[in-house]
Amino acid sequence: LLQVRSVAKAFGGNRVLEDVSFQVEPGEIVGLLGPNGSGKSTLLNLVTGFERIDQGEVLFEGGRIDRLPAHRIVDRALGRTFQLPSMPTKMSVIEVAMAAATARHGFFDTLLGTRAAREAEERARVEADALLKEFLLTPVRDLPSSALSGGQKKLLGIVCALMGKPRLLMLDEPTAGVHPNLRNDIVQALQRLNRQGMTIVIVEHDMHFIREVCTRCIVLDRGHIVASCRPDELSSNERVLQAYLGGG
Ligand code: ATP
Ligand code: MG
Repeated sequence: LLQVRSVAKAFGGNRVLEDVSFQVEPGEIVGLLGPNGSGKSTLLNLVTGFERIDQGEVLFEGGRIDRLPAHRIVDRALGRTFQLPSMPTKMSVIEVAMAAATARHGFFDTLLGTRAAREAEERARVEADALLKEFLLTPVRDLPSSALSGGQKKLLGIVCALMGKPRLLMLDEPTAGVHPNLRNDIVQALQRLNRQGMTIVIVEHDMHFIREVCTRCIVLDRGHIVASCRPDELSSNERVLQAYLGGG
């Protein structure tokens, strides 16, 4: 589904990723882990077109996407969330969620004012309301999105990424700062989406979460992949231990 081939990225003289290659197969839930600053969010930004790669290739469903702008990648059914979500000030929660669908289908540009546009808008509203309910955001549905708490913004980020049912979902620390009770709901939602055919990549520090959810783990350390293994193999992997203990 996703192929990352020999990708490199530097910011100025800071070589953040070097020769990173991996694949994600349909149906996997891949945990992307590694110490702070190891390049996890940068990797998500590169795959989703929010940053440009310096070297290498990224393929999604067999086609190159590494030269496409971010909105074209979203069109191709690749949803993502951000580690620190920022929400547009004035738009309400429901409007933000619906805008995510309209971005994906592009109907505002082509169909504006037509009956098809109104029908698409109605479908987006139904989909957004169902997702807001699932992620416990119905009570704040009509508030300005900027008024949400940090954890609620995270949840709204997940809702937006799920609008239009992407085939690949990439989440950057979806549970950080989210109440433990809700973390369970997120786990269950992700597992259900996965059973329905969605492939998922999750950046996550919480080992418990990773063991519970992921079918495979990729471990980054200082811009290199040091392991790709099952979650239960992590604790016996020498290079993973070194990455986490800073032994290098
Ligand atoms: P964390 O677990 O703390 O979220 P991370 O693995 O997601 O860490 P990144 O955010 O990918 O790490 O950052 C990796 C390195 O790249 C850091 O040294 C960071 O300063 C640098 N970096 C990331 N984005 C930029 C940018 N836009 N400009 C300059 N440097 C950047
Ligand atoms: Mg990060």
